[in-house]
Amino acid sequence: MEKKLADLNFSNRLYKTSPALFHSVKPTPLENPTLLHVNLKLLNELGLSSEITKNSSFLRFINGDLEFEGPFFGSSFYAGHQFGYFVPMLGDGRAIMIGEISTEKNFYELQLKGAGLTPFSRRGDGKAVVRSSIREYLASAHLKSLNIPSTEALTIHRGDDDVYREEVEKSAIVLRVAESFLRFGHFQYLATTNQKRELKKLVDFVIENYFPNFFQHQNQYVLFFQEITKRTAKLFARWQAVGFCHGVLNTDNMSILGLTLDYGPFGFIDNLNPDFICNHSDHDGRYSLGHQPGIGLWNLEQLALSLTSLIPTTDLDRTLNTYTTIFSVEYQNLLLAKCGLYKRNDNSESFLRETLLMLEITKLDYTNFFRALSQYETEDIYWKQFPYAHSCELDNWLTLYRSQLSLENLSESIRHERMLQVNPKFILRNYLAQLAIENHLLIEDLFKVLSDPFSNWPEFHHWSYPAPPELSNLSVSCSS
Ligand code: AMP
Ligand code: MG
Repeated sequence: MEKKLADLNFSNRLYKTSPALFHSVKPTPLENPTLLHVNLKLLNELGLSSEITKNSSFLRFINGDLEFEGPFFGSSFYAGHQFGYFVPMLGDGRAIMIGEISTEKNFYELQLKGAGLTPFSRRGDGKAVVRSSIREYLASAHLKSLNIPSTEALTIHRGDDDVYREEVEKSAIVLRVAESFLRFGHFQYLATTNQKRELKKLVDFVIENYFPNFFQHQNQYVLFFQEITKRTAKLFARWQAVGFCHGVLNTDNMSILGLTLDYGPFGFIDNLNPDFICNHSDHDGRYSLGHQPGIGLWNLEQLALSLTSLIPTTDLDRTLNTYTTIFSVEYQNLLLAKCGLYKRNDNSESFLRETLLMLEITKLDYTNFFRALSQYETEDIYWKQFPYAHSCELDNWLTLYRSQLSLENLSESIRHERMLQVNPKFILRNYLAQLAIENHLLIEDLFKVLSDPFSNWPEFHHWSYPAPPELSNLSVSCSS
């Protein structure tokens, strides 16, 4: 029998464990909602069939206009360091938790983003504009398909309601889904408001439900912090390897499960540039591409400070000290795999340094370079087939590369096959998101391609190019 929305199993575990973390809120549905897209794969994962989207109650559901029991609506309290400065009370200013559902396989928190005012909206309106919602919708599916942990989005719809930013715009709601939306900031909030019992309950909840192997282990709190450190270091390594810049790495935007969370003015690089800043309000480059890995550690240090009632500082420090190595090993392995190199040797590290330096100097398109490299044939000694301009830096690097390749014993075809699985043909460059923002009919095709970015999609080949000059200087506003 087909499952209806009312059959969803709302277990609401987090809310039952930590009601102190929530404030109940009534969403404000958008006027004349129009569905823009549904992530059907995710819908199926939740145990619902695509037929359900044809039912008018589906649109009401994702618009926060509910007619059955089970869900609860709540926004949560959290604190956070914004650009290095601690803000004791932030909270979900425009996110409203519908509830948590359980399927046979998993638990999912459902959140509406942009469904109006909450007690934490401060001077904001609790709304989200269509452009930033489309960016979050496409990006979250895209990062998942790039094998980068991320929250996801089930649906996006727009309404007729006006929202006021630099100009008048229309509003949208994204229904976000994640195993958990818990942030470093939730723990910071409980610690700084001295709610020690609540803090312990929340940490216990995370261990029991997300890290069950550590549950009731005599060292469970240390293991908990070690796991978060590991996940964070690996997440940041994955971002660096693909050239993704988050843009607003405040501690309230850091997921306790190591997921990419809160898509704002993020950006993918065209060419490798550690000084790349995607957030136009980030005047000092605190969150530039090159600073990202260090910020991961800084944010973990702030989380550690909120856990001192549960974990001895020596253990916290010892764990923090592992971050850099975990990050480096993961980043290097990802880069080696991008080069089709699987056997580490004494020269691996220096080879990677030369690779990054060559890419920085030549300003070759980062994504397209690695995609082209995924088809490099060793008999093409001078890489005549390279589709872009040669330079002495590239040619010198090629000599180094060939000597590294000679130490491998994989067949060329298997190496190519593997490399094509880790070097995407498509990435969500700003101008692609802009195409979808300007023409909503393109969302479907862009979603399809960006959710499967390692395939060739010959009919969409043009979307693998860097931005054409007229779209290359898009300014991504922070006001979303
Ligand atoms: P962000 O930089 O998007 O992570 O947002 C930082 C804080 O501002 C969070 O607490 C958000 O919930 C809040 N916020 C952002 N935009 C709005 C808005 N339009 N209305 C209310 N709160 C907002
Ligand atoms: Mg945020």
